[in-house]
Amino acid sequence: NAIAKAAEQTTAGMNKADYKDVWVFIEQAEGQVKSVSYELLGEGRKLADAMGQKLAGVLIGEQVEPLAREVFAAGADKVFLVEGPEFKTYSTDGYTAVFTDLIHAYKPSVILLGATNDGRDLGPRVACRVGTGLTADCTNLGIDEETGLVAWTRPAFGGNIMATILCPEHRPQMGTVRPKVFKRPEQDFSRTGELIRAAGRVKSQDIRTKLIELIKVCTAACNLEEAEIIVAGGRGMCKPENFVLIEELANVLGGAVGASRAVIDAGWKPHPHQVGQTGKTVGPKVYFACGISGAIQHVAGMSSSDIVIAINKDADAPIFKVADYGIVGDVMEVLPALIDEFKKV
Ligand code: FAD
Repeated sequence: NAIAKAAEQTTAGMNKADYKDVWVFIEQAEGQVKSVSYELLGEGRKLADAMGQKLAGVLIGEQVEPLAREVFAAGADKVFLVEGPEFKTYSTDGYTAVFTDLIHAYKPSVILLGATNDGRDLGPRVACRVGTGLTADCTNLGIDEETGLVAWTRPAFGGNIMATILCPEHRPQMGTVRPKVFKRPEQDFSRTGELIRAAGRVKSQDIRTKLIELIKVCTAACNLEEAEIIVAGGRGMCKPENFVLIEELANVLGGAVGASRAVIDAGWKPHPHQVGQTGKTVGPKVYFACGISGAIQHVAGMSSSDIVIAINKDADAPIFKVADYGIVGDVMEVLPALIDEFKKV
């Protein structure tokens, strides 16, 4: 088919030795680099050092040059900067076109993107355009000792096995990585690097979608990726009205509200609150799991939390295996007691 043909053309005659350096797609909004990009810069630095290569950030947007300093401070040696009014907000057409051009011009060996809405949209399109593969939703990265290739690890078969994938035939090696699986590196603002201004070739009329209005559905309560404390509820909350206890505890602690998929499927909470394999991956300092059984798909999204506190009336619930503290009891009794105590602090 046409896609396979395009892929053949782009990889035909490719010399793998020409491909060097590790790139990170820098996501930014409202004048700030997103956490996931910092996490990937930290991990990208380790890969680049292990491969004896340079680390570069790809920064696309409108008037985003000041953010290059942040990217250097987080470990990059180079920043590819593409600026223009047509890149003010993410667009599939615009970002795919300039990213693809950059790859053809500079030939990176490895590209890391966040497994976010934008990264999941951009990564596969760019991979297809340049005729390479992409490992989606990785939860670990390393170097395969035998081949020196990047070893991309991701959950497979509903999280029942972890698959490690290599990309021996094509370049660049590409993958999306879940937010919060890696720690954000310390920034060193004495670091500088090479700023490469790359002209974006895209005309605004080539961008087929237009942002008409931005309606924020997500308040602080569902900003789970950035939250230091998350109070999450599951089916054990028994009915949607009882979720007010989850919200109240989150409110008292200044945290965000999470939920299991059972809660989302039942329509008690919208999808941005879902934690787990098909929801968000979170890594707060404290994660309260209230009336959540601890299914493998839920745990996949919260196991990198520093401290897990589980409340469940079943002492054998699997969630207690990943919990640092466990309370065996009824959420309808334990949560009001916790709320009262925390209100006193
Ligand atoms: P349950 O498993 O029904 O657990 C409810 C718990 O509440 C039980 O342990 C029970 O003992 C306890 N309980 C009941 N009443 C009380 C009470 N009064 N007080 C205290 N405890 C009480 N799930 C996710 O969460 N996130 C995902 O991203 C996700 N992705 C999935 C992807 C795939 C491909 C598949 C197949 C499944 C996925 N799931 C996901 C679903 C997952 O397998 C579980 O079904 C789900 O996590 C269960 O949610 P739960 O723990 O709220 O409900």
